Amino acid sequence: MSIAIAIDGPAGAGKSTIARLAAKELGFIYVDTGALYRTIGLAATRRGLTADDQAAVIAMLPSIKVELAFNEKQEQIVLLDDEDVSGLIRTPEISMMASAVSAIPEVRAFLLDLQRNMAHTDNVIMDGRDIGTVVLPDAKIKIFLSASPECRARRRYDELIEKGMDVKYEDILSDVIARDYADSHREIAPLMPAADAIMVDTSGEDLETSVNKLLQIMRDHI
Ligand code: C5P
Repeated sequence: MSIAIAIDGPAGAGKSTIARLAAKELGFIYVDTGALYRTIGLAATRRGLTADDQAAVIAMLPSIKVELAFNEKQEQIVLLDDEDVSGLIRTPEISMMASAVSAIPEVRAFLLDLQRNMAHTDNVIMDGRDIGTVVLPDAKIKIFLSASPECRARRRYDELIEKGMDVKYEDILSDVIARDYADSHREIAPLMPAADAIMVDTSGEDLETSVNKLLQIMRDHI
């Protein structure tokens, strides 16, 4: 039987970085489910759709192919109609679009089996918003990772600046607050901790401290 670890929490809590490093340490496969919603957001944007075009986003789904794969470094990549779009989905514009399409039930249903199938065959650490509550309710360990909005905005800002993007901290902070609100107030699969989730706050911690804290929790519970 494969082992699944679910890590949920708001944008910028450090889920992906921490989960990736912890997975490497434990020899698990890391699955970033946000990349899937971002890819649907990208596909919709390419078709000229906006956040309000729900019916058109739903109509688009049967005509697109979204897949997760791994490159030669064993890093996750995401394919849209066989094109590697991993680099294209990391912009603020696509973040907002991902949040919008993720509130559409048909989009969530479209991505559900893909996520579950990954956990059938392999030991995974899967990060997202509803992994412990909806996608893998039987996950062996559920962690809800959070940090203050200011701290999360600062981390995302540093990340984007490092990638050479021209962004303002204030804009990132208002995006973080807007996305938190949208993600936790939507009707379907809202962002909330599973009843049996372990709550972890990474505010003010450096990466190493957070990774060690999570690894300790994982080792204690595996
Ligand atoms: O994690 P990331 O910021 O890349 O996710 C992008 C967006 O996708 C989130 O704002 C959220 O709305 C959505 N998402 C989701 N469920 C997941 C993962 C991401 O609704 N499991």
